[in-house]
Amino acid sequence: MSLAIQSFIDQTKTMQKFDVIIIGAGPAGAMAAIEVAKQGLSVAVLEKLILPRRKVCAGGLVKRAVKLIPSEIKYPIEQQCHTITMKAKHLNMQFVETQKDLVTMVCRSSFDEALIKHASGLGVQVWDNTNVLHITPTQNNIILESNQGVFSSQYLIFAEGAMAKLSNQFWKDNRILLPSLEADVYASDKQLKAHQNAMFDFSVIRGGYAWVFPKGNHLSIGLAVMNKTCKTQLQQAFDGYLQTLGLTGAKVVNRKGFIIPLSPRSEPLARGRMLLVGDTAGLADPITAEGLTYAIQSGLGAGKAVSQAFEHPEEVVKIYLTQTIQPILNELRIARLLAKVIYHPNTMLRNIVFKHYGNRLCTGMADLISGTRDYASSLEKHPFLKKVIKKLPHKQQIDNV
Ligand SMILES: Cc1cc2nc3c(=O)[nH]c(=O)nc-3n(C[C@H](O)[C@H](O)[C@H](O)COP(=O)(O)OP(=O)(O)OC[C@H]3O[C@@H](n4cnc5c(N)ncnc54)[C@H](O)[C@@H]3O)c2cc1C
Repeated sequence: MSLAIQSFIDQTKTMQKFDVIIIGAGPAGAMAAIEVAKQGLSVAVLEKLILPRRKVCAGGLVKRAVKLIPSEIKYPIEQQCHTITMKAKHLNMQFVETQKDLVTMVCRSSFDEALIKHASGLGVQVWDNTNVLHITPTQNNIILESNQGVFSSQYLIFAEGAMAKLSNQFWKDNRILLPSLEADVYASDKQLKAHQNAMFDFSVIRGGYAWVFPKGNHLSIGLAVMNKTCKTQLQQAFDGYLQTLGLTGAKVVNRKGFIIPLSPRSEPLARGRMLLVGDTAGLADPITAEGLTYAIQSGLGAGKAVSQAFEHPEEVVKIYLTQTIQPILNELRIARLLAKVIYHPNTMLRNIVFKHYGNRLCTGMADLISGTRDYASSLEKHPFLKKVIKKLPHKQQIDNV
C-alpha cells in the first residue's frame, strides 16, 4: 500500500465528524453555533487563536444588536451609554440625542468569550488554537485539515472575520477593506467624566470619523477611514486627536490598527454547503462601521437556515440568502449611498447636510442604532431619494442562485 493511501486511511480513522463546522469564534461564528446546536445538530467551532482572544474593536454594542441576542445569554458590560454626540467642530456644531441604552459598551474579549461559552454549554465543541489550513469539498461533505488534525462536516460556515483567507478559495474577495485604529486610553477621573457620551467626531479626518467611547475606567478612542479614496496617516491623526482632546499625558494601551469591511462580496454569500457570515461576508455598516449587528444577524440566520433544511443544501442556500442576506443587503445599499455623501472627500456636501439637517441626522442615527427605524423606512419619507436608490445596480445576483 502506498504511503499516501496509508496516510489517508489513518486520517479518516481519527477524523472528527460533525454536522456543521464553523471557522472562527467571533460573534458571527458563536451565534451560528448557538442556533445550530439548539436544533440538536452536532457542531464544532474551530478558532485559530487561544481563547479568550483580543479583538481590535471599540466594543460599542448598539441597541439593535443587543435586541438580537437571546436574553438567556449573559455577558459582562463595561458601561451603558444613553447619549450619542455627533460633533462637527470645524462648523462649531454639535448634535446630541438621548435614548435609553443606545450603546452597551463591552470589552470584546469577554463579550466574545461569553457567547462562545454559552455555545459550549449547549454542546458545541470549541477547538481553539486550531488553525484550518486547507478545505476540500466533496459530494456530501467537506474535509478540513488543520494543525489539530482532520475534521469533516456536512456544512461549513465561514466566520473568519475581516482578515478572511480560507473563504477566498471559493469566493472572489472584492470587499472594500478600510483601515482603522483603536486604543484604550486611561485618563484622569475628571477627563473620564467629560466623556460620558458615545461621541462620533466628524472634524478629525477627511473621509472618515473619530470616536470616543466611555468604558468605565477608560476610554476607547479610535479613527476609521470610510472612503477608499481618502488616504490618512492614522497614527499621526491619532496623536493629534489626543492633543485636541487634552489627553496627551494619558496612558494609552493596546493601540492597534485593523481593517473594517465596508462593502459585501458581490457573489451570493452561500453556495453548495458553504455559507459566509459577519465580516467574512463584508457586512459592516458603511456609515457607522458598526459590524456587530450584522455579524450576529447573519450568524443566527445561517444557523437557522442550516437547521431548517439540513437535508437539502439548495434550500439552505435559498433560505439564508432570501431571509437573512437580502434584507441586510437592501439596508447596506442605501447606507452606502448616504455614506458617499457623508464621507465625500470634498467636505462641502457633508457640511451642508450638517448645517441644515444635523439634528435630524443625529436623531435618525439614534433611531437606527436602537432599531426603531432602518435605512429603508427612513427613505419612505423621501420618495425622490427612494426612486434614485431603487435604480442603483444590484450587485448581488440572489435570484440566480
Ligand atoms: C477598530 C475597530 C473598531 C470597531 N468598533 C466597533 C464597534 O464599536 N461596534 C461594532 O458593532 N463593530 C465594531 N467594529 C467591527 C466589529 O469588530 C466586527 O464587525 C466584528 O468583530 C465581526 O465579527 P465576526 O464574528 O465576523 O469576526 P471576528 O470577530 O473578527 O472573528 C473572527 C474569528 O475568526 C478567527 N479565524 C480567522 N481565521 C481563522 C482560521 N483560518 N482558522 C480558525 N479561526 C480563524 C479569528 O481569530 C477570529 O477570532 C470595529 C472594528 C474595528 C477594526
